[in-house]
Amino acid sequence: MFRFIAGTVIALIGGVAVARAALDPTESAIAQQVAAGQPAAEALLARAVDIESPTENLAGVRAVGEVFAEELRAIGFHTRWVELPADMKRAGHLVATIDGTRGQRLLLLGHLDTVLAGERFRREGDRAYGTGTSDMKGGIVVMLQALKALHAAGALADRRITVMLTGDEEDAGLPFAVSRATMLELAGQSDAALSFETSVDGTATIGRRGFSSWTLETTGETGHSSGIFGAGSGSGAVYEAARILAAFQAELGAEKYLTLNPSVIVGGTQAELDDYRGTAEGKTNVIAPVAIARGDLRYISLEQERSAMARMQAIVARHLPRTGATLRFDEGAYPPMTPTPGNEALLKVLDGASRDLGLGPVAALDPGRRGAGDIGFIAHLLPGLDGLGSGGGDNSHAPGEYTGLDTLTPMAQRAALLIHRLTRDAPGPRQPPR
Ligand SMILES: [Zn+2]
Repeated sequence: MFRFIAGTVIALIGGVAVARAALDPTESAIAQQVAAGQPAAEALLARAVDIESPTENLAGVRAVGEVFAEELRAIGFHTRWVELPADMKRAGHLVATIDGTRGQRLLLLGHLDTVLAGERFRREGDRAYGTGTSDMKGGIVVMLQALKALHAAGALADRRITVMLTGDEEDAGLPFAVSRATMLELAGQSDAALSFETSVDGTATIGRRGFSSWTLETTGETGHSSGIFGAGSGSGAVYEAARILAAFQAELGAEKYLTLNPSVIVGGTQAELDDYRGTAEGKTNVIAPVAIARGDLRYISLEQERSAMARMQAIVARHLPRTGATLRFDEGAYPPMTPTPGNEALLKVLDGASRDLGLGPVAALDPGRRGAGDIGFIAHLLPGLDGLGSGGGDNSHAPGEYTGLDTLTPMAQRAALLIHRLTRDAPGPRQPPR
């Protein structure tokens, strides 16, 4: 097994050699240091995956954070743990910094927590299986492989880089103003954010949709079913809910990057629905007086979110005869990362680095293909890129999760060169954040 993987590394070094004309000596050294770091990266991934860290396992999240903190301290970072209020029931975040004056001030993002737990690290050929391999301990390993190579090549000297590994990306603590306060503060002191969520072949992410959840509650007159549609009984709560949901699809369903999904619905003479579970009862000869549906709304910009919410409320307000309806949006909407010229400029640097490494072009991932993520919380403050982590994987948030071990070195080479090219300029007046 090791021999096979070592062969992969040599092939990659060969790839770098072919493209060497495009790299200066420092960049060649960085690329080769990254390739040399492959065995350590695999060992670190195995270690991190075997510490279970679902969001609710606070000790596990903290323990995996300590593993990465140790690695960061070894290359000169100062680390601290950001505590969150105990009643939030979240582990907190790791923040690691080096300070300097050259180039852009970078904020590197990752998350320590996973959705599921229970699958240990297991290697099969070029694949690493286990909970969090793809989302996103593999991404943090790529980030560290890149930083270690930059350090070894002397390319971290006098740089200002902040690493933030959150402990609750998969289920962020409420209120976000508290659980994301440190991230917002760090973003305000940085020029660009790079997030190492799973990479999707040949792409990086310049936009991710945000989402919010909603609850629709409709009411109607109850009575004998034979009276439905009549002046006395009206349409009942179930028809009112059906009208509203059909209109959501008809009037909002074709808009680019906008989706809204009713995920669960109950209705009848009695109906109750909490976040995930509902009960209902009714007889076929009785008009339903109540119906409740829950669902989500996903959008690429805050303008699109506001506009969709207003149109949804207008649809709700049209009421069938003798019915009523209310639509409520939950607290805790996830903000979007809206594609901006600043994000595209970062993608251009990444694309150039990837081509110069002989790793091919990097295009923007269709924002419709990616869910919400931590970078959305700060995307309005500074340019950013996401999807810089390990790739070749699948089954995120599902059993059988895996990532491609053969993607660690190329992704880390790409990231390292990107970081280098953003931070190598001699000290000068800082660009104001875009
Ligand atoms: Zn993730």
